[in-house]
Amino acid sequence: MTDGRIPTGSASQVTHLGSVLAQGSEGQCLSCSQLLPTDTSPAILSRVFCSPGCERAYISDNLNNISLKDCNRILARIDALLQSVQVQRSAKNDSGR
Ligand SMILES: [Zn+2]
Repeated sequence: MTDGRIPTGSASQVTHLGSVLAQGSEGQCLSCSQLLPTDTSPAILSRVFCSPGCERAYISDNLNNISLKDCNRILARIDALLQSVQVQRSAKNDSGR
């Protein structure tokens, strides 16, 4: 998934971006490639962006194909997955007594 190719599906794009952000950038800003400041960056994701502007630009570039409808569909899918896990856990706990 992180072989450099950008996935085409909206959920895959969100997952890919999350993976890239989680991996970090080895001390360089993902957006402008400058070295990250030695003191804490003012960006929310301070381990991968040097400034809030770089952070905003990178994330909006990477998610520019994704609509609010896509976001709602992805959230509904995640919600369904979490609910199914909760059902499985409570069934497991009930059978373990
Ligand atoms: Zn930057």
